[in-house]
Amino acid sequence: MDAVFAETDVLDPTGPIEIAPRIWWVGHYLEGDPFQCHVYLIEHGDQSVLFDPGSALTFRHTLRKIEAVTPLSNIRYFVCHHQDPDITGALPLIDQIVCRPDAVLVCHWRAKALIRHYGLELPFWLIEDHEWTLDLGGRRLRFIFTPYAHFPGAFVTFDEASGILFSSDLFGGFTKGFSLFAKDRGYFENLRPFHEHYMPSRDVLQYALTAINAWPVRMIAPQHGSIIPESLVAFMIEQLMNLDCGLFLMSRQNTDLKRLMTLNQALKSITQTMILYRDFQDIAHNLLGIVQELLPALSLEFYARTQEGRWLHLSPDNRYRGRLSDTLPRSIADAFTRAERADAAGEHPAFLTLSEAERDRPTIAVPMASPGTGALESMAVVTLAEAVGHTDDTEDVIAQMVTPLQVAVERETIYRTLDMERQRFYETSIRDPLTNLFTRFYMQETVARLMGIHDRNPDAAIGLVMLDVDHFKQVNDTYGHAQGDVVLKAVADCLMHDVRPGDLPVRLGGEEFAVFVVGTTLARVGDVAERLRRRVAALQFDGPMANRTVTASFGVALRHQGERLESLIERADRALYDAKDGGRNRVCFDQAEMAAVG
Ligand code: GH3
Ligand code: MG
Ligand code: MG
Repeated sequence: MDAVFAETDVLDPTGPIEIAPRIWWVGHYLEGDPFQCHVYLIEHGDQSVLFDPGSALTFRHTLRKIEAVTPLSNIRYFVCHHQDPDITGALPLIDQIVCRPDAVLVCHWRAKALIRHYGLELPFWLIEDHEWTLDLGGRRLRFIFTPYAHFPGAFVTFDEASGILFSSDLFGGFTKGFSLFAKDRGYFENLRPFHEHYMPSRDVLQYALTAINAWPVRMIAPQHGSIIPESLVAFMIEQLMNLDCGLFLMSRQNTDLKRLMTLNQALKSITQTMILYRDFQDIAHNLLGIVQELLPALSLEFYARTQEGRWLHLSPDNRYRGRLSDTLPRSIADAFTRAERADAAGEHPAFLTLSEAERDRPTIAVPMASPGTGALESMAVVTLAEAVGHTDDTEDVIAQMVTPLQVAVERETIYRTLDMERQRFYETSIRDPLTNLFTRFYMQETVARLMGIHDRNPDAAIGLVMLDVDHFKQVNDTYGHAQGDVVLKAVADCLMHDVRPGDLPVRLGGEEFAVFVVGTTLARVGDVAERLRRRVAALQFDGPMANRTVTASFGVALRHQGERLESLIERADRALYDAKDGGRNRVCFDQAEMAAVG
């Protein structure tokens, strides 16, 4: 069907335009009118139909275009999808010139209740009294009820023959100039503000769209904006389905639709970001993107008070992992003081400008109060490409963003603090809870003692076997983290099984392990490693990993008298990476050691 208007760019709005066989646009382009009210005609002999006739401003032109297609006397049905003056203003004129006695005004009873006040002669034909169907003889129109979108008695019309939906205000858009057909998906940005503003709620809109979706719509001819061709129909419906509406008229003083629209999107994106992402680095990255829609922001960081009264600094510099400290940088502390003082005075500035002295760029601090207690607990610090002033607009935008930001930061502060506590606890514990092996912390203490003995007695040599599970990330990714834990436990069991009393099996972290072997030679440490390697490779698992082999790579080193622990670990680690490089599932010796031995 799109073929009828292949050259969409050269449509001439001064005459009627045939948008599909025998279906005509007969509206009028009103200079400077963002609504551009469209009127459509189905030419069907003496049973022709006119949709949403238009206003007194435009009807003269519409009449001329109708007459260029078919005599007005051929029109029997005047469909009014709702009662707005841009649709019905022309009715008194029509009432005067229509003389066929069977002409009717087609609408819902709720529109009739209002339109009757024009005092028209033209009789009403109510869609709900005719099973929501109009049979033109060889062509059937279906009326789809779309209540409250945006009028209680609103409906749309589906023409079965062409698959065109005459959609009234639904799918309407704001336009500059005359563009009868939407060209690409970008046109949705014209629909968005129109619906966000016009449709009372998302539920109302979704109800209407669901009803419409029951019909095989091939083109949408709305009363405003541009016609939506077949290739874009599904996309536009889906986009509208996810739109929030009805928010703007509630906003405080502002009628700047575009700005409110952006803000609305920003708030929604913040919520989505927080649902979708767990990692604060991802959250912060997305938040910055959102803030950048509203302000010339370069970077975003946060300072939050923890329960113990310390300060958590979440910033790109620490990859948003957070850094705890007891004091704040001077400019931030100053901003807190100023915000608290203003609070006490009953003023609530949305943001404070930080003193330039400590910063090389204009920076603002946004005080964030906990929604629960109202207490000032955190601050978002935004570095800007250029300064912003305290205009109502900026104040408003920032004020609206505070609560969602605060919630994101508060949540992270709780997580971070717990995490750090857990870490602190872990760091001082002896056994790793997952594998029951010794921890790194315990290793430090114990090995220090063993090293003291070795330094006095060359026969008390310390051998180190380090191992790292091969492609362990794949196990996690394929079978899940819980299964990954099962593997780690199984590997740890191999270590436990093989060591002799006095040896020290350690979980260094993640999927890296070590065994310290005492009173030994390099060859014997190599044997321990080789035995472990085979044992790990022979591990069998139940369930999803039944046919999967797990291997590990090993590095071996023998301590020199007087050598520091870090150095010993470094040599074993280097050997381990040789094993990885050499193809994994193997034991490698520290090269220096080999040279010395050989
Ligand atoms: P390579 O053979 O080079 O060692 O590859 P790899 O996949 O084993 O190495 P990488 O270091 O990239 O992956 C280690 C993974 O171990 C990433 C981390 O999520 C996971 N991991 C660390 N600690 C644990 C844990 O306690 N349980 C589970 N299930 N996974 C862990
Ligand atoms: Mg690994
Ligand atoms: Mg690793």
